[in-house]
Amino acid sequence: MEIINKTNWRTSDLKKIITRAFAEDDKVEGKYLYRKYLVIKIFNATPWQKHFLEHFKKKGIPVPRERRAYTGRAFLGGYRMIMKLPSNEIDKRMLVKIFVHELTHIRGYRHSKMGYWLTDKEAGSWMDDDINYPVRQKEIKLKPKVDLQVKRYEHALAAVKDKKSKLKRLQNQIKKWTQKTRYYEHVLAANGKIKKED
Ligand SMILES: [Zn+2]
Repeated sequence: MEIINKTNWRTSDLKKIITRAFAEDDKVEGKYLYRKYLVIKIFNATPWQKHFLEHFKKKGIPVPRERRAYTGRAFLGGYRMIMKLPSNEIDKRMLVKIFVHELTHIRGYRHSKMGYWLTDKEAGSWMDDDINYPVRQKEIKLKPKVDLQVKRYEHALAAVKDKKSKLKRLQNQIKKWTQKTRYYEHVLAANGKIKKED
C-alpha cells in the first residue's frame, strides 16, 4: 500500500488510521490480498469557485467550509484510490467512511454493502481515540529568513576570495613566463641576437 499524501495532514497519522480501518474491514470482508499494490492518493478538497460563492450569497446560504470535502474515487476491482479531505479540520469518522467506501469498490462491490461495521461500537470505537489515532497538521518547516544585507556581505566575501585566487594564479603565471623570457634573453644575448640592456 502506497499513500501519496498531498494534504496538510501528517502522512503517518493518515496511514495509521487507514491501516486500522483496513484491518477492521478485512475482518468483515475477508483479507484483501492485493494490499501491497494499492495506491492511495489523498488531496486537499478544492476551494469553492467564484460562481458557487455568488450563488450562496444570493440565496443567503452560509458558505460551507470547503467544496466537496470527503470525496473519493476508485474503480471497481481496481488498485488506485483518490480521496479528498478538508484542509482545516477533519472528522476521522468521515475519513474512514470514505476510505472504506472506496475500498469496497476496490474489492469489486458496488453500493450494496459498505462498511456496516463502521457504526458497530466495538469495531468502530477506536476512531474516537484521539490519543492513539490523532490527525495532526503537518509540521511546517519554516525557512530561516535570510537577511538581505548579510546575504550581500557574504556575496562580497565570496567575490573577494574568488578574485584573490585568480590574482594568485595570474601572479604564478607571470612568474613562470618571466623566467622563460630571462632564459631566452640569456641565450639570445649570448648568440648576439639581442643586445642586453644595462
Ligand atoms: Zn461509491
